[in-house]
Amino acid sequence: MLAQRYPLVWGKKKFYIKIFCSIPNIATGILIKAGKNLFAVDPGDGILRDLNNEIGTDKILSISDLFITHGHHDHVGGVWSLLTYMRVMNKKTPLSIHFPKGCVEIESIHNAFKKVYSKTLPYRIILKKIKHHKNYGTGNIKVRPFPVIHKEYLHDGKTTRQVPALGYKFSFDGLNICYGGDTAYCDDLVKQAKDSDLAIIEAGHDDDTPDEMHMTLSEAKTIGESAKEYFLVHVPD
Ligand SMILES: [Zn+2]
Ligand SMILES: [Zn+2]
Repeated sequence: MLAQRYPLVWGKKKFYIKIFCSIPNIATGILIKAGKNLFAVDPGDGILRDLNNEIGTDKILSISDLFITHGHHDHVGGVWSLLTYMRVMNKKTPLSIHFPKGCVEIESIHNAFKKVYSKTLPYRIILKKIKHHKNYGTGNIKVRPFPVIHKEYLHDGKTTRQVPALGYKFSFDGLNICYGGDTAYCDDLVKQAKDSDLAIIEAGHDDDTPDEMHMTLSEAKTIGESAKEYFLVHVPD
């Protein structure tokens, strides 16, 4: 296991990933570089500050795609500020937002954003609602979305419901990075993480009894160890 102190960085050849942070209920924020192309994944609160420190305005404007695993605030909290910053700084190239079908948070943020700014928006937003778990290309990378199991509590604090949630496997130049997002132990993640060059696995459950929201440390480690290298993320503070 690679050390878990943020930021976490991994790179091989021209494929690079920086996890600025991944703290459950607080924020996630991830940058991927593939050659000259830039992508952001799960842009939680603080992503704009972190990207600004890391790559600066011009490169923020060149980000072509946002990948969202699910709509929880610790994964989408920075979307509004990123979209707005790109408007204020006059982004010209399109921005695609990839998200699981049924993720009302992204649709709602996008609708509100359109309502406020559609007449003064210098760039195009393309919503890529993911309905199928098939490989596809975007920019210069290949993406494989896969279903994961992630639940949330309703108001009573007892009943749970499944949230639309994905993991993504990103491939570039013969290398691949598997990011599971938030998930309980699930076969699709086991399959995708195996032999990947880097697996990013959440260990968000804070005791040893498995549940359907997050993985225990030992579940996460088992999956991580099937990859060539791995990070454990989303470990409770
Ligand atoms: Zn989370
Ligand atoms: Zn979540």
